[in-house]
Amino acid sequence: MLWSKSFIPTLKEAPAEAESASHQLMLRAGLIRMLSAGIYSYLPLGLRVIDNIEKIIRQEMNSAGAQELLLPVLQTQELWQRSGRDKEIGEVMIRFTDRRGRKLCLGPTHEEVITELARTHIRSYKQLPLVLYQIQTKFRDEIRPRFGVVRACEFIMKDAYSFDKDDKGLDKNYNLMLGAYQCIFKRMGLKFLTVEADPGVMGGKVSHEFMVPAKSGEDIEVGHIFKLGTKYTEALGAKFLDDKGRLQPIIMGCYGIGVSRLIAAIIEQNHDEAGIIWPWEVAPFKVLIIPVDVTDEKMMNEAAGIYADLSKENIKSLWDDRDERAGVKFKDAELIGIPLEIIIGKEAFKNGKIELKRRKDKKIFFTDRKNLVKKIKQIMKDEAKP
Ligand code: ATP
Ligand code: MG
Repeated sequence: MLWSKSFIPTLKEAPAEAESASHQLMLRAGLIRMLSAGIYSYLPLGLRVIDNIEKIIRQEMNSAGAQELLLPVLQTQELWQRSGRDKEIGEVMIRFTDRRGRKLCLGPTHEEVITELARTHIRSYKQLPLVLYQIQTKFRDEIRPRFGVVRACEFIMKDAYSFDKDDKGLDKNYNLMLGAYQCIFKRMGLKFLTVEADPGVMGGKVSHEFMVPAKSGEDIEVGHIFKLGTKYTEALGAKFLDDKGRLQPIIMGCYGIGVSRLIAAIIEQNHDEAGIIWPWEVAPFKVLIIPVDVTDEKMMNEAAGIYADLSKENIKSLWDDRDERAGVKFKDAELIGIPLEIIIGKEAFKNGKIELKRRKDKKIFFTDRKNLVKKIKQIMKDEAKP
């Protein structure tokens, strides 16, 4: 991608609305913009990070045996009355009436919808166990939206649901999900804690939260898993015939990850005064190519060649071809936090060495042009390990 053609609106100063380091950096690095309190647009860099986060989640969920589906955002209030959560959820759920007079709501979570699906399709123990998940936008009219995407009214969640014939099955799926969550957060470069928690409104007996300690002192919950038991299946009548022909309520678990909140959590733990320091797997680009003088044709040809070589190798790179002073480019580079910078200055042509700079510690590596791609691959391989 050429920076001059990209929509990466960086800011020198943090807007007054920004309350935390991650919130400031997400605005300054051009990842998000606020439409109104708790409502955000994700700009191209932000969306690239979301895509990377989702990719990791999908890989780990699929390898734990879960299947992806997509449930509707629109739900019926009647379903929430049947589960008994209509009152409990209160004003958090956004309700409205459509032109046919149907009483609807925007999904704040999907236990009801998925249990209804199970009720109409699961008949026998032979169809169990089953684990389904989706990645989707949720709506919650939060009392106090804050810290940008950390507590928003519209946010992206990965929610998974397990269905089992007995407690032993639930335990197995719960532990599988717990393990998958730990892999997911590790791959994202997060230091996190897994703590036993109160199931609260969700119900059930056992639950674990995944907490990410932040410098600001606000530990932001990035995931929450629950052994729901039969709370929803009994309320909605989702039953199956066991191997002795007896009708039993299906045993459920539910497993959530705050996809959009994760971006903020990753930045809280991976930044310095100058900007973001993306962990490799979530970085919007892996390499940033900086020719220091765009009026120098030789330099731009070198940059073009490197850009083409990296594209061939499928290494996502951003080429800063903007007609800006080198100082501006270096500042922006630190702000948007691409893990590796290739700096093409005049010296490159004097001694034939290309300079590589690692964002996280500003360590410089030199390599000749011929071995550049090999060297980058080596650095990526050494560092991409969680
Ligand atoms: P919290 O305790 O932060 O209010 P919750 O317990 O209501 O969250 P869950 O229903 O467990 O949240 O949702 C699963 C995940 O979705 C949470 O672990 C969190 O990462 C994320 N999440 C919840 N509410 C929001 C929100 N308003 N904005 C962004 N992410 C959210
Ligand atoms: Mg929670």
